Parts: sequence; C-alpha cells; structure tokens
Amino acid sequence: MDCIFCKIASGELPAKKVYEDAHTLVFMDIAGDVDGHILAIPKRHFENILDCDGETLDRLMRTVKLVAEHCVKNCGYDGVNLLNANGTSAGQSVPHFHIHIIPRKSGDAVTAWPNFGGAKKDIDEVWQTLKL
Ligand code: AMP
Repeated sequence: MDCIFCKIASGELPAKKVYEDAHTLVFMDIAGDVDGHILAIPKRHFENILDCDGETLDRLMRTVKLVAEHCVKNCGYDGVNLLNANGTSAGQSVPHFHIHIIPRKSGDAVTAWPNFGGAKKDIDEVWQTLKL
C-alpha cells in the first residue's frame, strides 16, 4: 500500500521519532506550523477512527497519554491539545489514522481550537439527529 505513514512505521521513510513501541509510533510533524507538533499513529494501517479496531484504539490512546504526560512532566509544557480528523470532509489529508499532539505553554498565543463560525441550526434539532 502506498501510504506515507506506513512507510514511516516500517522505516522505509525517515521520521524524527519521539516514542515507539510494538504497536504505535510517535514522531514530529514536518508541517512547521507550531512548535512541538507531534503525530501519534498505530503502526498497522487504519484509515481513521471509523475503521480502527478497539484494541488498536486503546493502544494508541495509551501512547498519546504517555507522550502528553511526558510533555508536561519532563519537557516544560503546561498542557496539550489533541487534534484528529476522520475523513476528507473533516479535513484529513493523510489517510492513515493519526492523532495530532500540540504541546502548550501558558500564554503561548497558539490558537488550537477551531473557529467554527457559529451554529446554524437549533441545538434541539441537531440533538434529535445525534442522540444514540
Ligand atoms: P491531517 O491533515 O490531519 O491528515 O494531518 C496530516 C499531517 O501529516 C499534517 O500535519 C502533515 O504536516 C503531516 N505529514 C505529512 N507527511 C509527513 C511526514 N513525512 N512526516 C511527518 N509529518 C507528515
């Protein structure tokens, strides 16, 4: 499969690795858009959360927590944002499941929360569609 993150996971392509275990890999995002931009992926290929099995998801989130704690305990950060896009409609550009980890410092002036532009429908109407 011609997947850039599979190639990073297999070592075929280089990456600045932050953490690795048998099932997950964490490496620096090359976007250069914000200091400390990190990606966490499962080594096995899943497109996104919609096709990822529960065990892999558990492992990935444990890795995300480990790295988030490392950022705060050992690297001088105060918190992290977690960002994740599932599907092109959601803005996913690389179709291999990944969680963005953005380490944050108090007063760093980074805007990591999207400006959604305001809800267009009544909350109760949308609630009726969404509730399980
Ligand atoms: P998304 O738009 O949520 O799918 O995010 C994909 C991310 O992958 C972007 O932030 C890219 O900068 C990042 N990216 C693409 N290619 C590489 C690469 N070779 N090494 C590290 N990060 C990459």
